Amino acid sequence: MKALNSRYRHSPAGQLAVALYRISQAIQYLLRQRAEQESLSAAQVQALLFLKHSRPSAHTMGGLAKGISLAYPTISAMVDALERKGLVQRKVQESDRRTIMLHLTPEGEKLSGDLENLLDEIEQAIQALPQAQQEALNQAARQIIYRLNAAGYIHLHEMCWHCQFFRQNAHPDDPHGPHHCAFMDAPLAEADTYLDCPDFHPDPERR
Ligand code: SF4
Repeated sequence: MKALNSRYRHSPAGQLAVALYRISQAIQYLLRQRAEQESLSAAQVQALLFLKHSRPSAHTMGGLAKGISLAYPTISAMVDALERKGLVQRKVQESDRRTIMLHLTPEGEKLSGDLENLLDEIEQAIQALPQAQQEALNQAARQIIYRLNAAGYIHLHEMCWHCQFFRQNAHPDDPHGPHHCAFMDAPLAEADTYLDCPDFHPDPERR
């Protein structure tokens, strides 16, 4: 039996799998610690960060459930709690009144901004490595993530720059939309290319 015991995982791949598990434990610890400081649950912290960084079109109950991998009833109760805390607001979408959209309130915007340093400790640990190792690790991590995404274990919400539908500088003369999304067939403003997108498809050539 291999379990998590590195004694039985002699190969580099096996040892790395255990190492990634340990790193995920550190991230869970940082998440819980930060949530406690803000009198939130870890899932509430993830929800605020999702609403801060993902494309507004993903800000539905279903989009949030998928984005942070929680069941719909759990999400509904969590959004109720975030509304009671004055951090999130449900609003009917003007263009389709059957759809409820989630919005950060000004307090929610501020708090989600404060939460952005959540991974600083992890980043600092990586920064201590030589540059070449950081780059190799980054490339390897992306390939592992894409594979886990293809297997359905995680849902990727990433920004445009690694997406196969992204056409950089397709409209160089348009200051409001210099790039293009071939999925939506629409121009993209520079600022929008940095938002996580639910329609993101990894570009095999940029792995
Ligand atoms: S599908 Fe989403 S991530 Fe991909 S280019 Fe279009 S907007 Fe960007």
